[in-house]
Amino acid sequence: MNRFQSPASITKELSPSYDPWDPISSLQRYGKHVLTSVEMTVTNLCNMRCEHCAVGDSLTTREGEMLPLENMLNRLEQVEHLETISITGGEPMFRADTVDNIIVPLLKYAKERGVRSQINSNLTMPYSRYEKLLPYLDVMHISFNYVNGDDFHEVGFAGSGHAVAKEAAYRLYNTMLENVQRLSQEGMFISAESMINYRTHGKLPEIHRLIGDMGCRRHEVHPMYASNFASSLPVLPLKETAAAIHSLLDHRNPEMWMLFGTLPFFACSILEEDHELLRRLKSEKNVTVRNDPDGRNRVNVNMFTGDVFVTDFADIPAFGNIAESKLDDIFAKWQNEHPLNQRVNCHCAGAGCCGPNLLVKEMYYPDIDFKSRKAITL
Ligand code: SF4
Repeated sequence: MNRFQSPASITKELSPSYDPWDPISSLQRYGKHVLTSVEMTVTNLCNMRCEHCAVGDSLTTREGEMLPLENMLNRLEQVEHLETISITGGEPMFRADTVDNIIVPLLKYAKERGVRSQINSNLTMPYSRYEKLLPYLDVMHISFNYVNGDDFHEVGFAGSGHAVAKEAAYRLYNTMLENVQRLSQEGMFISAESMINYRTHGKLPEIHRLIGDMGCRRHEVHPMYASNFASSLPVLPLKETAAAIHSLLDHRNPEMWMLFGTLPFFACSILEEDHELLRRLKSEKNVTVRNDPDGRNRVNVNMFTGDVFVTDFADIPAFGNIAESKLDDIFAKWQNEHPLNQRVNCHCAGAGCCGPNLLVKEMYYPDIDFKSRKAITL
């Protein structure tokens, strides 16, 4: 065990009562937000162009050299309270050499340090690339917003700018299904995320059933927010978003862990219906609500430029670079000085809430000053 490892983090299984990505636990432990989570963008290449893609505008068809891995590992090593890493893209597994030379070494580092790891993937690449991650990876995170191959075709290539043959989409869809089933059987923890949006809100129970049938261990549900490719899509009103969550809770498998994130409902609301939903989410078996990690306990590092962002969304400019500064120092600067953070960094301990995501505030509550509100009991 090295100087950083805590025995609890090594032995504890991820579960509804242990989610190290939730910034509320480090806030409770340290009395302030500290950097516990680092996300790394390892490619901007992807074989899909999903309608809702949070980084769609950054995707390319060609990319240059990555910074030496050593630079990233050195900066990770300096993060005093590191508990989790996430690897994202593009499709991180798009190139086989990224898997061998970047992803596996990062996962090995995390494992040796007792740090939990996650990869965001579309799981449509050859199985052999994913198989290599089995000994090291804690969470394989996928998007799943479909009830059949036609949905996948419509949603998965909406940003392509050219027509994609249905047969090609079906082939990828089947590869994804097979990869999920096979990796789940081999013991990989697969967490499938669905978005609540204008397309999915009426069919979430069916999507949930398919996710369970494939062998996924967790179903994550997040409302879709206007960012990047999704910025021109219709916004789902809060009432319909809440109705979709209630319907999902009515029909779900209570044995499966359901994680809700980036929710636009808060305990400081004056609406009884919001409190009713929050009470239900709190009391349901195997249901958790994760506070948003972006800028609370996490930063994103672009491994081509070294730029550090508060999210992997491109909308907020970089606020540091690993060539010049330690990640803990960059995070502290964001926490203490950045005007955007000052707009949302509220905390109500009793409600276990540490404020809205910036996109949530902009989309649904542009005129609300959350810093002047407090959780209330209705
Ligand atoms: S932490 Fe902020 S958003 Fe959450 S209940 Fe309190 S005031 Fe509302």
